[in-house]
Amino acid sequence: MTNQPTTRPAAVPPDWEGLRSRLGGGLHRIGQDGYDTARRSYNPLFDKQAPAAVATCSKTEHVQACVSLARDARLPVAARSGGHSYTGYSAPDGGLVVDLGGMSAVDVRADGTAVVGAGARLIEVYAALAAAGRALPAGSCPTVGIGGLTLGGGIGVLTRKYGLTCDNLVSAEVVTAEGTIRTASESSEPDLFWALRGGGGGNFGIVTSFTFATVPAPSLAVFQLTYPEGSVADVVGAWQEWTASAPDELWSNVVITGGAATKCRVNGCFVGPQSGLNPLLDRLVARAGKPSGRSVSQRAYLDAMRYFAGCANRSIAQCGPESLPRETFVASSRVLPTAVADPNALADLLVGRTDMDLLLDSLGGAVSRVDPTATPFPHRKALATAQIYQKTTVDKQPEAARAVAEVRDALARLGARGGYVNYIEAAMPDWGLAYYGSNINRLNSVARRYDPDQVFTFAQSIHRA
Ligand SMILES: Cc1cc2nc3c(=O)[nH]c(=O)nc-3n(C[C@H](O)[C@H](O)[C@H](O)COP(=O)(O)OP(=O)(O)OC[C@H]3O[C@@H](n4cnc5c(N)ncnc54)[C@H](O)[C@@H]3O)c2cc1C
Repeated sequence: MTNQPTTRPAAVPPDWEGLRSRLGGGLHRIGQDGYDTARRSYNPLFDKQAPAAVATCSKTEHVQACVSLARDARLPVAARSGGHSYTGYSAPDGGLVVDLGGMSAVDVRADGTAVVGAGARLIEVYAALAAAGRALPAGSCPTVGIGGLTLGGGIGVLTRKYGLTCDNLVSAEVVTAEGTIRTASESSEPDLFWALRGGGGGNFGIVTSFTFATVPAPSLAVFQLTYPEGSVADVVGAWQEWTASAPDELWSNVVITGGAATKCRVNGCFVGPQSGLNPLLDRLVARAGKPSGRSVSQRAYLDAMRYFAGCANRSIAQCGPESLPRETFVASSRVLPTAVADPNALADLLVGRTDMDLLLDSLGGAVSRVDPTATPFPHRKALATAQIYQKTTVDKQPEAARAVAEVRDALARLGARGGYVNYIEAAMPDWGLAYYGSNINRLNSVARRYDPDQVFTFAQSIHRA
């Protein structure tokens, strides 16, 4: 393998009909029937992007055919797992979308490992694991794809106890730029394996399947404390101290809702019985003040995942993309290395900001016991991620982006300078450093080695950092 760009032949016109036949028919070209549905991302802001074609892949050879065509024609190419990219990077304008939705099988093996097709959505993963009595720490939205989530890290309600999703990755099957199928693990292509655990979706190749270690599915005590207007600074101040000293079993976040007067709620879960959770909640309440609402319930693993997905009252089938609405939003993130010294300053950021939430999601626990250079995810010692999430409409995107940028930059002034690559933002300043810290250097060398001709390149690909 070479680190140098190969001497590439001149671009050839894409042989779409050849690709269609290699895919067994699963190709939607622009202007053809089914294209508009096939190209759709989760966020309607990206409906204006017009890929040249969407390829429906159901086996690894299909992915190889797509990569070969894109490489030879020098077309932008992007894998799509769940289509939830915050920047629409899985729908490249004029390029080829490699839709992995047909590769979504989840096979839980006798040794507890699970082989998950790269196009599986989280709800499919949770349902299949739960049926086998197993669990994997991953995100909350049911329609997020396992592909993008894992490659960017994977944060969720079980991360303090069991680590990031990528920390549980045992191996991955990847189609790299020259169309070769590789297995990446600790013992095979170890640099590629390192890069896949948080180095960001869309880089290095297209993963076709992931093999994860899983844990026995736990019973969870889930909770929500709601606080009235005017209490945000007190709650944030108390929560920062509380989460910093919490046991691994406890995960929580604070969701601050903007507006003329701000308010907040604390959500979370405890891996274990309510009797373990309640004294911890009492300790928070003693510092933060009495909430206006307090709910605690004991849930089996899959029920808890549905609760956090906002699907508690829906069947598994109704938690899929066909049943749930899309959402128009602009978002960004920062990472809090430690507690913000002045919680009032943090609370003030949301004053007057309609339709904006700031979500502080606790890190720590198992996440923090992995060395910051052991995977590309550099925020191992941080207290929490801070996601800025602005609901909007397509015509108000510029105002929304400006509002998000203001809060993002204000958070940086409060000491939160990093960013989480799964909340990727097109305008993030110094994005390579923000997402990856000093790991960007090793990521660059892995990208040069596995993709010397920059087949997998996009606005925030490792090649451009
Ligand atoms: C409503 C919502 C809730 C979310 N909740 C969480 C959460 O709880 N925790 C969390 O950590 N994140 C969360 N996220 C962020 C999410 O992890 C990222 O948006 C992630 O990139 C989405 O992955 P995807 O496969 O759905 O998206 P896609 O748009 O399909 O992919 C995202 C990026 O990864 C690339 N990619 C996808 N699959 C592959 C593959 N197989 N091989 C190579 N590259 C690939 C794409 O090309 C693209 O660049 C949430 C996002 C949304 C919209």
